[in-house]
Amino acid sequence: MSFERRQTRQIHVGKVPVGGGAPITVQSMTITKTADVEGTLQQIYALAAAGCDIVRCTCNEAEAAEGLAQIVPRSPIPVIADIHHQYKMALAAMEAGVHGLRLNPGNIRRPEHIKAVAAEAKDRGLPIRIGVNGGSLDPALYDKYGGLTAEAMVESAMHEIAFFEEVDFHDYKISVKASNVPLMVEAYRQLSEATDAPLHLGVTEAGPPPAGLLKATAGIATLLLEGIGDTIRYSLTADPVEEARAGRQLLEALGLRERKNVDLIACPSCGRAEVDVIDVANRAMKAFGDRKLPLQVAVMGCVVNGPGEAREADLGIAAGNKRGHLFVKGRNVAVVKEEDMVDALVEWAEFINEHGTDAAIARADTSLAEREAAKDRSKLLDDKGVDANHSTERIVEIRRTVGGE
Ligand code: SF4
Repeated sequence: MSFERRQTRQIHVGKVPVGGGAPITVQSMTITKTADVEGTLQQIYALAAAGCDIVRCTCNEAEAAEGLAQIVPRSPIPVIADIHHQYKMALAAMEAGVHGLRLNPGNIRRPEHIKAVAAEAKDRGLPIRIGVNGGSLDPALYDKYGGLTAEAMVESAMHEIAFFEEVDFHDYKISVKASNVPLMVEAYRQLSEATDAPLHLGVTEAGPPPAGLLKATAGIATLLLEGIGDTIRYSLTADPVEEARAGRQLLEALGLRERKNVDLIACPSCGRAEVDVIDVANRAMKAFGDRKLPLQVAVMGCVVNGPGEAREADLGIAAGNKRGHLFVKGRNVAVVKEEDMVDALVEWAEFINEHGTDAAIARADTSLAEREAAKDRSKLLDDKGVDANHSTERIVEIRRTVGGE
């Protein structure tokens, strides 16, 4: 299933296209001092491994710009310099060789400075993100709209764009972030009607996970499903690797980017579970980490229902009678000891990634595995019965209670 995306014009951040039908990209920001070249590069590599396409580093002082001069040539992904109040830092970052800038023109204020930066970026062929933030809105717009509204944010963005257009600079993308999700969603909706510039989506200051993840996902996913947005950033109070991972996972979940890592699905567990599903799923998640295995892998609590419920998964494991029953596309392929479940999953996932599911089924003794699974399944049914969750008993009890009123 796919949905229509709004047409925007395309810009390039280094070699990465943004907008104009390009794959939606994931961004994040380093939290090291940019002057700490090795520390920052280490973080950039970790971000890239977690799915980050474009990274932003702060350029708040001369030492940071000097750091960027050493970071940019060694970075595996394009680097954007984040400029705060000093337009001179934007000029220094460009001198350092960055692939783009992020400006909050609301913080720079003086139009001649904004225009000087835009003119220099134009000469160098560099893109700029115009980042309007709810928190730094022009007080005059506050007054005009009676507070922070979507209309005020869009007017602010259009006002800033005018400075760039004045010097014939069109290589920009825009963000109108707010920490209030409905406000942010509405501001981007209106902005997408007002311009064909690529849009950078984000809920600013979303906070620590899990609440921060939920807020950011609510805002970003809503817009993406409406076809709005060309690049995204999760602003979490957490290790930035979490941001990159979340961004990547969201795009994969929405079918907007090809799967790169394991999509781990797991049953929620119930009275029938033969293992601690939460523990096995978490250990599996950790074992797969950022391995490049674009497969769906299932962890299921019991062999009675697990293989059937997860038959669409490339690979899965279901517990039963102190053993793990491995299945590939719903076909039982092997039986392992309970303590070896996670290792077996990783080993089979690697095999499938290299040779495919058909080869995995072909190499297995499926009739033996199916016989063993059937044995454990009937043992579980004998032990726990068909109604392991005691639903029938509960229903009888409910009827007795209601009937007794
Ligand atoms: S029936 Fe089995 S697979 Fe389904 S939720 Fe319960 S333990 Fe998990």
